[in-house]
Amino acid sequence: MSGIHRLPQEVADAIAAGEVIERPASVVKELVENALDADARRITIDVRGAGRTSIRVSDDGSGIISDELPLAFMRHATSKVLTLADLHGIRSLGFRGEALASIAAVSDVDCTSGGARIHLRAGEVLEQGAGPLLPGVNIEVTDLFANMPARLKFLKSDATEVAAMRDVISTFALLHPHVKFHLTIDGRASVTSGGDGDRKRAGAAIYGQLVAAEMLEIVGLPLVSGMVSQPRVSRGTRDWIVLAVNGRPISSRSLVFALEECYQGRLERGRHPIAVLDIGIDPELVDVNVHPSKREVRFRDENAIFSAVQRAVRAALGGSEPFFYRAPAPTPAGSHEQQTAHLRVAQEASAAVAVQDLVTEPAPAGVPLRPMGQAGPGYLVAEGPQGLVLVDQHAAHERILYNRLLARLRDGRGMSQALLIPAAIDVEPALMAAAADHQAELSALGLELVEFGPRSLRILAVPAEMPASRATKAVHETLSALSENRSENAVEKAAAALACHSAVRFGDVLDLAEQRRLLADLELAEDSVTCPHGRPTRLLIDWQELTRHFRRNY
Ligand code: ADP
Ligand code: MG
Repeated sequence: MSGIHRLPQEVADAIAAGEVIERPASVVKELVENALDADARRITIDVRGAGRTSIRVSDDGSGIISDELPLAFMRHATSKVLTLADLHGIRSLGFRGEALASIAAVSDVDCTSGGARIHLRAGEVLEQGAGPLLPGVNIEVTDLFANMPARLKFLKSDATEVAAMRDVISTFALLHPHVKFHLTIDGRASVTSGGDGDRKRAGAAIYGQLVAAEMLEIVGLPLVSGMVSQPRVSRGTRDWIVLAVNGRPISSRSLVFALEECYQGRLERGRHPIAVLDIGIDPELVDVNVHPSKREVRFRDENAIFSAVQRAVRAALGGSEPFFYRAPAPTPAGSHEQQTAHLRVAQEASAAVAVQDLVTEPAPAGVPLRPMGQAGPGYLVAEGPQGLVLVDQHAAHERILYNRLLARLRDGRGMSQALLIPAAIDVEPALMAAAADHQAELSALGLELVEFGPRSLRILAVPAEMPASRATKAVHETLSALSENRSENAVEKAAAALACHSAVRFGDVLDLAEQRRLLADLELAEDSVTCPHGRPTRLLIDWQELTRHFRRNY
């Protein structure tokens, strides 16, 4: 080492570039952001060799005037911010004036716009002059990280890098449905969106028709636009949740939490929704300048955003529908491969249309389900206007009772039945404490408990619907739910435990009158698609599915 010295420009640039350009997907992200900032309607991205060989992005946006082309590649050169005040109200995706300089520092760049062309390598201008006069900007990045062997070594497998680039484009396509994106990987189409402004159609391009048809659009709400999945479709990871502010993808644990909380009681544990949520907000109320790749943002009023998200998601979920039975597509006979492929496409298309019709068609209200008996240990079979319905009698009853208990909690008026012989139970100190802390809520739920010695309670009354024989077990689980969940929804969990113990069991025999009542109550219950634990309550085999299966449509 030779004492303190200022770094040569190229070293400083390479260090700065490292923060912005980590991997091929960062190049794609920055170039697409620039195209979106230039109001492009059509953005084509062509990737070769997992982005190491080349990444080419062409757009039809406003372009760069020929005189300014070299300037665009200088560090801190931008057309988006002029004064310090501008930093507080950023409407564009870019603003630091670093992306093009950083990309040029670590690759070979050829860029044409406005009739000019420039060629740079490792930050040095190699050539510049006239170029073809085309709309927008055409930029090609080759030999990425050729001058940074360490960075090159840290890249993941080709498949992983390609997936990351695909994710970038998918996310932007979902957030900017009015822009036509076309991504090709080694000449093969990977993502193609229509750019007609229809978010569900953009969804179809990314998730496929069937999943897109299950998305509920958020319409007419302030602040939040986007779409969320029906609870009956879910994913094992959070990878399908896209959050954004003014079209800029962000990550935010708190907003993911806000979203997922709306699905509570509708999704099973470990399942996650699919969502696109774009928060349209006055740029002054959000600081996007807190993270090098601008992934994190700071809201001035985080609580307001949190509740706006929840209002929007809850409103959209108001239209959620029961689970449909879908027969697996029959494999057509015949050996001719092309013909098979053709048939399959036709079948998928028709299935997709059918699902869409059903999802958008509201269920005719007021027509009761007709009970037809029980099947297996505990499924009710019924006929309704949309088709044949199978109901899990326990899950359905659980939902009905849970809703009823929550309503009593809200009014603070329990409906209980006194036990003829009060039951005594021994409990640990934590549960004794839970009983004492939540006395008012427990009584609203219909449970009357009194202390009976240091480690035991006496149960005087239970909810009206609960069989007396289940009292001790139910009380034990209810108190456990209260003591284990310190959060706000501890009481809901307790109500779910009580509902579970009060509901008919899966093996119970129900007569037709009991079946009819349960079905009628279920049809009226809110969120009746699932039980309070998120398991489905019913399965609909719709008439169209039967018609299709029995080929009655010919
Ligand atoms: P930033 O986006 O932060 O301004 P960049 O380094 O990404 O910084 O780009 C520098 C400037 O080059 C931009 O401010 C913009 O004026 C211009 N520019 C870059 N890409 C495009 C494009 N695709 N279309 C029009 N102008 C562009
Ligand atoms: Mg930029």
